Amino acid sequence: MSKELGIKAKKENLSEWYEEVVLKTQLADYSPVKGCIIYLPYSYAIWNLIKEEFTKIIKDEVSEVYFPLFIPKKILEKEAKHFEGFSPEVAWVTRGGDSDLDEWLAVRPTSETIIYSYISKLIKSYRDLPLRIIQWCNVVRWETKATKPFLRGREFLWHEGHTFHATFEEAEEEMKKRIYQYKDFVERYLAIPVIAGYKSEYEKFAGAHTTTTIETLLPDFKALQCGTSHNLADNFSKVFEIYFQDKDGKNKLVFQTSWGFSTRLIGALVMIHGDDKGLILPPKIAPYQIVIVPIYYNEEEKNLIFQKVKEIENKLKQKYRVISDLREEYTPGYKFNEWEMKGVPIRIEIGMNELKNKTLVIHRRDEMKKEIIKEEELESKINTLIEEIQSNLFNKAKKFLDEHIYVANNFEEFKEKIDKGFVIANHCGDQDCEEKIKELTKATCRVIEFDNNKPFGDEKCVLCGKKAKYKAYFARAY
Ligand SMILES: [Zn+2]
Repeated sequence: MSKELGIKAKKENLSEWYEEVVLKTQLADYSPVKGCIIYLPYSYAIWNLIKEEFTKIIKDEVSEVYFPLFIPKKILEKEAKHFEGFSPEVAWVTRGGDSDLDEWLAVRPTSETIIYSYISKLIKSYRDLPLRIIQWCNVVRWETKATKPFLRGREFLWHEGHTFHATFEEAEEEMKKRIYQYKDFVERYLAIPVIAGYKSEYEKFAGAHTTTTIETLLPDFKALQCGTSHNLADNFSKVFEIYFQDKDGKNKLVFQTSWGFSTRLIGALVMIHGDDKGLILPPKIAPYQIVIVPIYYNEEEKNLIFQKVKEIENKLKQKYRVISDLREEYTPGYKFNEWEMKGVPIRIEIGMNELKNKTLVIHRRDEMKKEIIKEEELESKINTLIEEIQSNLFNKAKKFLDEHIYVANNFEEFKEKIDKGFVIANHCGDQDCEEKIKELTKATCRVIEFDNNKPFGDEKCVLCGKKAKYKAYFARAY
């Protein structure tokens, strides 16, 4: 194996390791524009699988649409809080060709305003509700902070769901349904455990009535927001005048939600599951679930073994994403290393011994373990292994998350634990107090669980000592 191929950095040097893994496994590369990465085939394939699988879950209820990339300034400005929240990171188009534009166009930071300025054309009566649409697209946020591939960038890919309802309660229910759907999806497909709940007033989406979130913990003990779902109530329908005629003949404002997750999830996958050798991909979203590597020493063996490789590939292809590595210029050892680095969950090795004995060597990436199986057992073995690897990755990540949740009874304990993971603490809910915590510790309120959120112990706010409104998870975050 050439020195250039393997990952040199150790995972304990997370930042360096992460960058090397992203580049060497060819997930992504840097572009000439700061904060904008090139999604290479390997990461784009992961994203496409995420999209496909999530689409299967929602397609009966939600229709796909595409709205323009550009949002006229006056439309983006219409909902004051929303605009205020986004304006520091909006990229503007001010010229077209040789001439200045009469009105600046924002490159969408999110599409609430462009969609809501149109949507009343589709909503006339209660019969048109609920209306649910989703858009898979790119968005631009002009970050000034340090950027990191997938985790923080100026342009990223995501979906945004937008729904319209007759009542506040329906919107509230929709918001929760979607965040639970995200939790389930991210846990089951990406094997990333998350905590679901509310955002605080201070951390909620600009313009939302309520924001819910799913949060996970990365190996450097920083929290990562993996998806959000907002109840917008009638905040936007008021300014965009989105009315429907109800059963009683009266014109009423619609209630809305929006929700989304992004290519950030790919960054979380890399960081959470990877090891010193590189990526470890959960089978459900791995572009290749199985790689077959032939081992031979002369032309005659090669022909026999290639034939077997093709046979096995064709059999497994019916159900799995399989690649046979038939490159002749590389040794089996080189191929093993490369596919291990790329995190392919299962490797099948076929050599003359296997051919003779009607056996196969099966290697699993998550445990780096080999076993010899009978060829006739192949399909049932792969079935079991796929499930096992998927749940093993989740369980490992869940253990890490659970082991890094601390409880702080006072601010001393809070400061002591905050660089080690999530800290559960009582909070008064006051924005100034929350800001003060951020100032003092760089930690923010990440999530307030839906049910389990009553203050504990002395029921006093961890910083100011006032009566606490809830207990919440705090952490430093990406
Ligand atoms: Zn307080």
